[in-house]
Amino acid sequence: MTRPAPAIVILGNGSLATARKIQQAYPGALIHGLAARVEGADREYHEFGTTLRELYQQDTPIIALCAAGIVIRTLAPLLLEKGAEPPVLAVAEDGSAVVPLLGGLGGVNVLAREIATVLDVAAAITTSGELRFGTCLLNPPSGYALGDLELGKRFVADLLAGETVRIEGAAPWLAQAQLPENPRARLAVHVGHAEREPAANELLIYPRNVVVAVSACAVSVPGAVRDALHRAKVAVQSVACLLAADTEMASPTLREAALELGVPLRFADDVGALSTLASNAIEQPVLILGDEAIAIAVAEKPVDPLTIGRLRGRLAVIGLGPGAAELMVPAVKAELARANDVLGYETYVRMAGPFRADQVMHCTDNREEMQRARHAFALAAQGRSVVVVSSGDPGVFAMAAAVLEALHESTDPAWHNVDLEILPGVSASLATAAQAGAPLGHDFCVLSLSDNLKPWDIIEKRLDLASQADLALAFYNPISRSRPWQLGRALEIVARHRTPQTPVVLGRDIGRPGQTLRVTTLGQLTPDQVDMRTMVLVGSSTTCVFARPGGGDWVYTPRWYGEKPTS
Ligand code: SAH
Repeated sequence: MTRPAPAIVILGNGSLATARKIQQAYPGALIHGLAARVEGADREYHEFGTTLRELYQQDTPIIALCAAGIVIRTLAPLLLEKGAEPPVLAVAEDGSAVVPLLGGLGGVNVLAREIATVLDVAAAITTSGELRFGTCLLNPPSGYALGDLELGKRFVADLLAGETVRIEGAAPWLAQAQLPENPRARLAVHVGHAEREPAANELLIYPRNVVVAVSACAVSVPGAVRDALHRAKVAVQSVACLLAADTEMASPTLREAALELGVPLRFADDVGALSTLASNAIEQPVLILGDEAIAIAVAEKPVDPLTIGRLRGRLAVIGLGPGAAELMVPAVKAELARANDVLGYETYVRMAGPFRADQVMHCTDNREEMQRARHAFALAAQGRSVVVVSSGDPGVFAMAAAVLEALHESTDPAWHNVDLEILPGVSASLATAAQAGAPLGHDFCVLSLSDNLKPWDIIEKRLDLASQADLALAFYNPISRSRPWQLGRALEIVARHRTPQTPVVLGRDIGRPGQTLRVTTLGQLTPDQVDMRTMVLVGSSTTCVFARPGGGDWVYTPRWYGEKPTS
């Protein structure tokens, strides 16, 4: 498994040069700089603590250019929770010290040595076993899995106390280690895929060289896989991946099984027999078991699951919120981090970035919605992780409906097998309403005034009825150069049912640089105060306005209607 690129976190401009040096060693790494203190970082953050904890919880390796104490105190609340433990290092801002702090089993010392080499200093390695033997026995290279951590710690303690050790099986990475080897030693490092009872004198390391082909029809898949492995005397820890026919790609049973077993799930062309599916996947396979529901094939060396079949593609339609990073939901941030491809209108794709060098941006014109949706499915059907970006919420006059329409129209099973998810965002009406107070605090109606995709008659009819029903109104796409007169006409219709004193909120570029918020009335509102970057909120008969102490107004629509209830 390859680790995600580290995040380099800095607090001031003084660390930028060191950060850039480190970045050269990790092409995918981004420099996160404290907004207002750092100029020229790849990504801005506002809150050091929140940012660091978020990165940690997303299992991102962290290189923080600041005092070790700050990092420790910030992450301390998370350390007792079970979950991600990525490597975490503190590096002196002038590059004179590299201190591995957390993530010993995630390779923090390896990172520390790499960074120290780049900075031409010595890493502050404090792990005894590693210092003595030149390798961390409990952190075998990728392609191998440690049997049991607690037993392992005891094993290393015995070695440190002066015992000698035998190596059984193929452990090529230990060739360079300085282990006190002795063919008659009581302690043994045992490398192999056979199921084996743990014993105190053995450090079990499993090569991940087993591919299990499975069909969703296998009753209770995780249980069936474990049973089959047990019958075949193969260790669960040696499973590199589950493999299934691509006709079963959308099966939730298989997904849950892979999750429960903690292994990747891959798919290959349906070839009928599972034994053929499993054997085809690897070179020089030895087939250990093959029946209708499960086949187990073992390779000579560890297999990289990325080379077996393909992944189920993913397509996420996400909402960025109005613009400000704080208003983007965490699930969307995580989705952007895992994306291979990002599609959308150029302005929004840029807003979602910056992206790593390995992520592909596909910027298109705002009007090519269906084409973009089809392109997204074509990419996802190849097994890629694809994100389609919208501003605000993707389900509000944005890409989610277009993506579903493209899927509905398609008869391609590969498209229907894509793991599709819609992730919400803060829509412009809600972001604007929150800044003004609570103008949408009672029933309200959301309308797009654009007649590009619907007849103007319908818009007039809806406006008339919604105004008559005394709903507060939120207008998206209120006006544009090609639609100059529609807003004026819309306001005339509203004015048939509302007084000129009705409060109106105009939010422009809310959550973006240069945002403006204006409170006016229906009587004073003219179309020239509005452009296509404006959200127009029109109050109902109960909407109220009162002054704020610092200037400006609060606008709200009470929860009740008719008679105020006594409280
Ligand atoms: N999916 C988006 C809406 C897209 S329609 C959402 O949920 O917010 C585009 C319209 O949304 C614009 O014409 C404007 O009326 C409104 N809008 C989008 N972002 C805005 C912002 N930051 N401030 C004010 N209005 C915005």
